[in-house]
Amino acid sequence: MDFLLTEEQRIVQDQARRFAEMEIRPIMEEDEKHHRFRPEIVKKMGELGFFGCCLPEEYGGNGMGYMESVLITEQLARVSPSWRLPPNLQNIGPAVTVDKFGTAEQKEKYIPGWVCGENIGFFAISEPNTGSDVASIAVTARDAGDHWVLNGQKMWISNAPVGDCGLVYACTDKSKRHRGISCFIVDLKNTAGITTRPIETKLGLHCSPTGEIIFEDAKVPKESMLGKPGDGFTICMWMLGNTRISCAAGALGAGGACVELAIRYANERRQFGQPVSEFQLVKAQIAEMVAEHRAAQLLVYNAAFLKDKGLPNQLQTSIAKYFASESAVKAANESMKIFGSYGFSTEYPIERFYRDVKSFQMVEGTTNIQKMIIGGIACGHAQNR
Ligand SMILES: Cc1cc2nc3c(=O)[nH]c(=O)nc-3n(C[C@H](O)[C@H](O)[C@H](O)COP(=O)(O)OP(=O)(O)OC[C@H]3O[C@@H](n4cnc5c(N)ncnc54)[C@H](O)[C@@H]3O)c2cc1C
Repeated sequence: MDFLLTEEQRIVQDQARRFAEMEIRPIMEEDEKHHRFRPEIVKKMGELGFFGCCLPEEYGGNGMGYMESVLITEQLARVSPSWRLPPNLQNIGPAVTVDKFGTAEQKEKYIPGWVCGENIGFFAISEPNTGSDVASIAVTARDAGDHWVLNGQKMWISNAPVGDCGLVYACTDKSKRHRGISCFIVDLKNTAGITTRPIETKLGLHCSPTGEIIFEDAKVPKESMLGKPGDGFTICMWMLGNTRISCAAGALGAGGACVELAIRYANERRQFGQPVSEFQLVKAQIAEMVAEHRAAQLLVYNAAFLKDKGLPNQLQTSIAKYFASESAVKAANESMKIFGSYGFSTEYPIERFYRDVKSFQMVEGTTNIQKMIIGGIACGHAQNR
């Protein structure tokens, strides 16, 4: 769908590509080895306007939309799936959600910090016993008159160990199940009763910190609630409808990188007196990867286009997330085969992509959850919103 990009969008795409090549590629392999996160890279992305998409100018927005955010994320993921996360954790997750549901005071207080990258963002839904079934959230928020008291544990939260302010979903009325969930803007570093713990056993994404958040009688101000008590589930589903496209864009970029790596290697590696790319079986592997990558690109851009037009897109977004994630995993797998034993070595980047792309099948709703949404809308059991 390159032909549908405007001149401005091509400039944004090019800028993101150059940023990823110049600022991330040179340091990434070493950082991956040492599990190093660099807040200064988040700030640089903020300075370039990578987090100003879908937001009004008064809070740092720059007139760009979902399509531009997708183009930026795709280019970042092409170099490093770890570094595709900041546009989601600063902009498309917290900032866009607070812009939609927040008060004027909340928008003014939080959005500019997320947009410039000073305030490291996050969103916390998952818990040890709550994954796909968001309605089963067990972290509680008790109304204590002039403040809320949070108790419980969040798990698998991107940026938890380094985060400043972000969104926390908690249960304010258990008897109402999903209608009893509320959303809070929580300051991790300046709230007594909150501790974070890094999860250091991840398979990949080593430059993107992930962790637990533990709330022990953590007092959060009354005005930190986003929306009204019980709005949390609706806010969460709305947010996931957006963060899902960001994830799909990441899968697209990473899948594209696997295709590029496979082609380059197949043209260089010689066996039986010729480049392995000359063998029909290898060419067939590459053809499938290329076709699936191009199809994923059309699906992701199409969903972003519909979002920017304000048209129903839940179906298209879930299809894009499902297809881009699965094709990225397949591309990494096929690319590994083409690399032969060298693919099995940490000296070559393909093994990193092979590990990192698995995350796309889980986050922002697993592949099964996307299939449930797609099947439900296709069968007329739910409306495309
Ligand atoms: C690197 C990483 C970063 C993450 N970042 C965040 C973050 O920033 N914030 C956050 O809140 N969470 C985050 N997560 C958590 C992630 O969103 C969850 O892991 C995901 O929602 C799936 O939940 P689960 O792992 O508990 O799987 P479960 O929900 O327990 O699912 C287990 C299996 O059962 C299947 N399944 C479940 N329900 C159904 C169903 N109804 N029908 C069919 N199959 C079903 C699933 O597809 C899966 O295969 C992150 C996870 C990872 C790995």
